[in-house]
Amino acid sequence: MEWKRKSETEIKQRVFGALKGNVNYRDGSILGIPGTQLDSKVFSEEISFVRESPYLFTLVQNPNHIGCHTLGDSESYFEGTQGLEREVIRICAENILCAAPHSVDGYIASGGTEANLQAIWIYRNYFMYEHGASLSEIAIVCSEDSHYSMQKAGNMFQVRCVLLPVEEKTRKIDRLAAEEKLSMLKQAGVKCLIVVSNMMTTMFGSIDDADLYAELMQNHGFEFRIHIDAAYGGFYAPLIDESNTIDFRHPNIHSFTMDAHKLLQAPYGTGIFLIRKGWMKYAQTDAASYVAGADCTISGSRSGANAIAIWLIFSAYGRHEWFEKCSTLERRASWLAKELDKRKISYYRSPLSNIITLEASEVPDDLVTPFGLVPDDHHRPSWLKIVVMEHVTIEKLEFFLEELDSKRFLEVSDLQLI
Ligand SMILES: *Cc1c(COP(=O)(O)O)cnc(C)c1O
Repeated sequence: MEWKRKSETEIKQRVFGALKGNVNYRDGSILGIPGTQLDSKVFSEEISFVRESPYLFTLVQNPNHIGCHTLGDSESYFEGTQGLEREVIRICAENILCAAPHSVDGYIASGGTEANLQAIWIYRNYFMYEHGASLSEIAIVCSEDSHYSMQKAGNMFQVRCVLLPVEEKTRKIDRLAAEEKLSMLKQAGVKCLIVVSNMMTTMFGSIDDADLYAELMQNHGFEFRIHIDAAYGGFYAPLIDESNTIDFRHPNIHSFTMDAHKLLQAPYGTGIFLIRKGWMKYAQTDAASYVAGADCTISGSRSGANAIAIWLIFSAYGRHEWFEKCSTLERRASWLAKELDKRKISYYRSPLSNIITLEASEVPDDLVTPFGLVPDDHHRPSWLKIVVMEHVTIEKLEFFLEELDSKRFLEVSDLQLI
């Protein structure tokens, strides 16, 4: 699937054309759908900038993208805009994550949390249905730097969630400690593991070694499936790092979470769930008989405007310009890393990442709040992170360093006075 930049005219034609392919509540004869466009008293489509904006106009038309539209049968009322959601899924799976054409199913979820829950739900059911596993024979395994949605999933789906320790400085899985935990799980009767491997963790931007996971699981004789949590890194790492091998070419990887509402700067509500074809069925709820094509997603009704928002961003950039945008963030982060090196300040940065995580002891307390540095633990922080997003310019980083220099200088001269 090509990912090309489109002209503004073409973009408008595609989105307004897609909306024409949806049900028209106002002029049509539809009686039975429990939905309609947004309330016209509050969200008027007569305002000219709403009419001109593909995103705002879609928002007011209020298409419902309930269900998963890569599977074939879907609600026909919103076919037009669902087609654009399918394009979004194909660009993510095929252009960014190197899947073969039409080999991946997916949908726009409410966020990375939901996409992770969806993956874990599917694999849990798979292990129950296909391997006859009981809940106590299934566990989620991930690194201690993983997002808390894995523990949430463990609680919701009633399976154990085991965190593997990482090495303090490198944030890599501590192999010996991992072996020990896996042996304990084996002894406790666990047989099937849902492995969640990160492509850029929230706090460190670190990327887990999916091959190490596969090797460990095989050595210990577990049944396993690997899900990649690329909520943070999905729109960054595969593009910026040519040597990236964490994608659908990897035989052990079956599914991905990506978040368009982080680096891609789409509105909140744009998590992306992707999984190889043949797996969505494990989340099929046959009771959803009033939805054509049945529903196999966690969310149920969801706004089609979210899919359009992502489609619009893809179309405004195209792959090459998106890469250029990522490179700018990468270069700013490299600039900051170099400045920190000059000052001998310790930090963690995964190669090419736009997240720089400072050792908290290096940063005077009174700089944390004004610069919005995010701690790993709000009570006893050992790390503070800087995330180089679009608004984090070199000028702002320079200002931070100036403040840091003057405070650190004061601390040193205080000591000398004593
Ligand atoms: C942000 C994030 C999530 C959760 O995403 P939400 O969109 O907030 O639900 C999951 N995993 C990682 C690595 C994240 O950075």
